[in-house]
Amino acid sequence: MKNLTCVVVGGGYAGIHAVQAIRKAVKEGNMPEKLRLVLIDKQPYHLRKVLLFKPAAAQTGEITVPLEQLFPEGVELIEASVTSIASAGKRLQYQDAKGLTHALDYDILVLTVGSIVREPEPEQGGIALTGLEAAARIRAVWEGNLRQASIEPQAEERKRLMTIAIAGAGISGIETAAELAAGVRLDAEGFGLDPKDVNILLYNAQDRLFPQGPAKASRKLESLLAASGVTTVHQRKVLQEQDGLLSLSSGEKTPVGLCIWTLGTRPNPGLRKMGLPLTPDGFVPVDGSYRVQGAQGLYSIGDCARIIDPETGREDGKTCKEATPQAARLAKVIAADLNGQPAPLHKSYMDFFCIGLGPQQGLVWTRQWGLDLIITGKLGGRIRKMTWDMASLLK
Ligand SMILES: Cc1cc2nc3c(=O)[nH]c(=O)nc-3n(C[C@H](O)[C@H](O)[C@H](O)COP(=O)(O)OP(=O)(O)OC[C@H]3O[C@@H](n4cnc5c(N)ncnc54)[C@H](O)[C@@H]3O)c2cc1C
Repeated sequence: MKNLTCVVVGGGYAGIHAVQAIRKAVKEGNMPEKLRLVLIDKQPYHLRKVLLFKPAAAQTGEITVPLEQLFPEGVELIEASVTSIASAGKRLQYQDAKGLTHALDYDILVLTVGSIVREPEPEQGGIALTGLEAAARIRAVWEGNLRQASIEPQAEERKRLMTIAIAGAGISGIETAAELAAGVRLDAEGFGLDPKDVNILLYNAQDRLFPQGPAKASRKLESLLAASGVTTVHQRKVLQEQDGLLSLSSGEKTPVGLCIWTLGTRPNPGLRKMGLPLTPDGFVPVDGSYRVQGAQGLYSIGDCARIIDPETGREDGKTCKEATPQAARLAKVIAADLNGQPAPLHKSYMDFFCIGLGPQQGLVWTRQWGLDLIITGKLGGRIRKMTWDMASLLK
């Protein structure tokens, strides 16, 4: 077999697991020993995106891992943004950190450029938790509010400054609210303020939290959040935050010092410029073995791909717990394709969710043999941390 170049684009959860699984396949002799393995990412680090709430809630907590640390050998790392893919000629173009354009020929290309965080319109105000810079901005606004509250004579205004609204109560909104609840009360004490005056409001457009799970898990979540000082407000959409006033879909207006949007994700807009076929809503369509149709040697997994379970017709979710097994299966698919053997087919992941509820606390729900299993407290928190670490290849 000739020496091959395999390029993985994106060092997020799907990309780093793909690299690891491909290296394993090489070690096990299922792929050519001299495979040139290249990982390209815009950043020199893997961003632990699921922990973005940590730097928003506290100054501590590093949530990036240098790609060099994850792959000290055996992988060529390129810090650059892939701009186009000419699948017919098996060549991609990328722009490096200096803005220079380069071309790279590949035999196998794994596209894992992920998704981006959904943002409200600029006139809707507030700050969306989109990345590290937004997390730092949230932190700075909150500290500024506390500083002002510590010298504010009027109780009403002090209360407003110490009120935080989280708009969007998906798992990310829940985790952000819980982490803030733990961190910001300590901040208030640090400014000589009464921590009981901190008010955290979690706005949920639906009528219960965590609709992916059973109603009893939703109730448990809400009561654990309440115990940590988060008030959940159901059936309310936040429309806008302007001049310290939150406008809600119900017509109500609530004074707040800070509004954080956690609205989920949308497809990576960069995909539209790459020259690949996309679904109308902007995902890469793949077959049951993650192959991009009509483009030999091109595969896609993770948040950027539309993946359907061939057996059930169910579309795969876009979370780390989906991306990780996809990556392991993909390496087997590539090996099978190279060896002219039948490739494994995608299978949906079991029902399993972990939700962090502040430092060392969490809720885990899984359904096994038709039974709901819910674990909370420190054990829930330990399982949560373990899944976060495994997703980022940290032991
Ligand atoms: C705030 C938040 C909280 C979340 N919480 C959870 C959770 O608790 N549990 C869970 O399972 N999932 C959670 N998710 C979803 C989870 O983060 C995604 O499913 C996961 O990140 C998908 O992995 P990925 O590798 O496909 O994409 P990403 O992790 O988005 O990685 C994509 C990578 O591609 C790189 N990239 C993008 N474009 C280019 C380009 N043109 N050239 C080169 N590199 C490029 C990016 O820099 C990035 O490193 C959360 C998401 C968010 C935003």
